Amino acid sequence: MSGDERIVSGKLRRDDRDNVALRPKLLRDIVGQDRVRENLQIIVDAAKARNEPVDHLLFYGPPGLGKTSLAHVIANEMNANIRITAGPSIERAGDLAAILTHMKQNDILFIDEIHRLGRAVEEILYPAMEDFALDIVIGKGPAAKNVRLNLPRFTVVGATTQLALLAGPLRDRFGARFRLDFYDQAALEFILNRAATMMNVEARPEGIAEIARRSRGTPRIALRLLRRVRDYAQTRAGGVITGSVAGEALNLMDIDYLGLDDIDRRILKTIIEKYNGGPVGLPTIAASISEDTSTIEDVYEPYLMQLGFLKRTPRGREATTLAYDHLGIVDPRTPEQKSLL
Ligand code: ADP
Repeated sequence: MSGDERIVSGKLRRDDRDNVALRPKLLRDIVGQDRVRENLQIIVDAAKARNEPVDHLLFYGPPGLGKTSLAHVIANEMNANIRITAGPSIERAGDLAAILTHMKQNDILFIDEIHRLGRAVEEILYPAMEDFALDIVIGKGPAAKNVRLNLPRFTVVGATTQLALLAGPLRDRFGARFRLDFYDQAALEFILNRAATMMNVEARPEGIAEIARRSRGTPRIALRLLRRVRDYAQTRAGGVITGSVAGEALNLMDIDYLGLDDIDRRILKTIIEKYNGGPVGLPTIAASISEDTSTIEDVYEPYLMQLGFLKRTPRGREATTLAYDHLGIVDPRTPEQKSLL
């Protein structure tokens, strides 16, 4: 099973489509991410008061935490149009030039996976972000001429799961950067309760709490699990999501009480059983479990690190004693070996 198909993957899947209706509309609808929300509110209010577009904004963090939702929210707040695109889909400089020439004052250009923009495309983006200008070359050879077109003042909202892969000059062109964190239990419960009401599903507080606990701090996963648990409740349990119904449904999906699934456990087991707890390089782990390295880095590792099960060290990945405990394996390493972790 690839990372995208996993039920606990934060990445967008086909069955997430109906989440769109559940998307927050305004900043005050955003639950969790308090610091981000408050800072954005100030930026938006100030821009509105000056009758200017908001500064270019960059959101980074694991998939499913609300980067795209925030871009939509900002467009709503600014009463502006939003154009959605992604780094890998802008292949040539001309593709971006075409998008830019259609932007209007205050419009938002959302670029997902912005770290995957090609070099030539970035070169077009720099003057567009900095000077609202599009530099194009007309003609070929000695007769070629550089022409600078003025663009309306618009806003780029970039999103990335890998801030470190973003070129320095591009990073510097954003007026503000925000790191999105995993959501806490209370925020996830709030999001789930609101979604259950909108979906017309009867859910008890213990049922909601059980789903939230196993959602890896990620709203997209929480909403996905809610739909799966609803299906289970409908067909097997009279339609009501109680604590035990949620527990049974999630166990059936092989999602344990911390939200880990079979692949998370295989990652940890590989490090522990094949490499004595590590350190072991990411490509080796990826090859052992037939996954690609970027999926492991983007989707699996952030949550395992958040739980304190995994450490990234310059020599490779290491499993902590907590990971051994979770898998019910005794950590044979000496205290000296562990202190090196
Ligand atoms: P990302 O762009 O970071 O991958 P999205 O913005 O697509 O994540 O969010 C995934 C889903 O989770 C959305 O469909 C949205 O409904 C939900 N979601 C994300 N953040 C929140 C939030 N703060 N409150 C309510 N729902 C949220």
